[in-house]
Amino acid sequence: MSTDPAFEIARRRTFAIISHPDAGKTTLTERLLRAGGAIQLAGNVRAKGERRRTRSDWMGIERERGISVVTSVMTFEYGDCVFNLLDTPGHEDFSEDTYRTLTAVDAAVMVIDAAKGIEARTRKLFEICRLRDIPILTFINKMDRESQDPFALLDEVSSSLALDTAPVTWPVGRAADFVGTYDLRKRAYHLTGELAQSDPRLVAVAEEVDLVRAALPEFDIEAFAAGHLTPVFFGSAIRDIGVADLLDGLVEYGPKPRAQPADTRVVEATESGLTALVFKIQANMDPNHRDRIAFARVCSGRLVRGMRLKQVRTGKLIPLHAPQFFFARDRALAEEAFAGDVVGIPNHGTLRIGDTLSEIEDLNFVGVPYFAPEILRRVRLDDAMKAKKLRQALQELAEEGVVQLFRPQDGSPPMVGVVGTLQLDVLQARLAGEYGVAIGFETTPFQLARWVFGEKATLDRFVSDQRSAMADDVDGDPVFLATSAFMMRRTAELNHGLAFRDIKDFR
Ligand code: GDP
Repeated sequence: MSTDPAFEIARRRTFAIISHPDAGKTTLTERLLRAGGAIQLAGNVRAKGERRRTRSDWMGIERERGISVVTSVMTFEYGDCVFNLLDTPGHEDFSEDTYRTLTAVDAAVMVIDAAKGIEARTRKLFEICRLRDIPILTFINKMDRESQDPFALLDEVSSSLALDTAPVTWPVGRAADFVGTYDLRKRAYHLTGELAQSDPRLVAVAEEVDLVRAALPEFDIEAFAAGHLTPVFFGSAIRDIGVADLLDGLVEYGPKPRAQPADTRVVEATESGLTALVFKIQANMDPNHRDRIAFARVCSGRLVRGMRLKQVRTGKLIPLHAPQFFFARDRALAEEAFAGDVVGIPNHGTLRIGDTLSEIEDLNFVGVPYFAPEILRRVRLDDAMKAKKLRQALQELAEEGVVQLFRPQDGSPPMVGVVGTLQLDVLQARLAGEYGVAIGFETTPFQLARWVFGEKATLDRFVSDQRSAMADDVDGDPVFLATSAFMMRRTAELNHGLAFRDIKDFR
């Protein structure tokens, strides 16, 4: 096995798929995994989902609503590359989780339904990618059905997203006659069967390709890397057309693992010292073991099983006894991993979202922030005997990022904050299923939550004056709760020395 880190890092491709529900993300994922030999039969991704669902109650929500709640990672090889595909939750309510996942990728594949064009969810996810300068590859799916004209689709992408488009392939035939793609750069056809030279589909491609070359920019790797231009691939995930084109594109122009910004400096992927960023915690993947997996993106260097890494937040040394890789169907011990890889680290709550693990100097990756919740609810416990259990469960689930937790300083029952109401359902189902705690929710007079920052003496005075409106978040940081936007503004005006923020960076 080669362990030349520079070589290994250069062949990592870590990406996510962004799309609107129904555009074909699941189907494409299955095809990608199959192309990489990670699964024998397309369909196993779902099969795995089914198996997991039967094990855990709250997955029922996922099944009922046909959405994907869990973020996970799937590793496979294709060409000379190692791919890490990070799954992004499909539902709007989970934007925080999605933000976090997108901090851990180097590229995103935007899947568009050829009949529908750019849809709401795609646009939103695209905007997150743009904020983070994540290069985007575009896969226009479902070309085997009645679709919009390819030129119109390209036009829509470039005008509505302000993103230049460079088609890398061109569809041969349309709808039921869609039989493959023409690679504009390699000038080669990839067809599902033989076509006569005089076939009208080939004649049409020749004409259209002339137009494309005249009207659209050529693929430019720098513009792509900077997030200004997207290479476009046409295909049909269900018929396995165009999928290899997309993978070849990822192999050829990457991008490779990127440099990651930290508070003190930028860390290059190719540095020899190991650093990693925890971007996701998943608890109770196996309820029999009560395990918690922290998903960490290796940001630089080489990870070797058994090494000890410093958790910068606490200064503790964390031994990596059993780091894991996840494949389509199973997991395996990661004996070594390189920048770009995502490993799962089993732990009992030591690791938190946003944690930096380092073998070099102390630094903290500036990850994605917590956002102030838009909905606050008081948790009502039906069985008072379970108060202690509830406290522990809420802490664990908040650390996992399922909801945000606010503990009022006046000792009243805890509150949870969410961005979307689906999170409340997930919380309720998981508390019942995994912890045996039944709860309900009650409204609170509070509408807004803001983190309060300021000089210690000023902050302490404010906290003690406002005790009935103060809470501690999951990290013990002070949060001011306001009953209205007016109250919030008024409080901020009266307390010049303090900052009231709706975003808190991970520490
Ligand atoms: P997701 O919600 O984005 O994960 O979408 P799915 O992969 O579950 O696909 C949604 C629906 O579109 C399913 O019925 C798929 O069988 C279908 N579908 C996916 N890709 C294609 C395609 O290339 N062509 C056609 N005709 N249908 C597709």
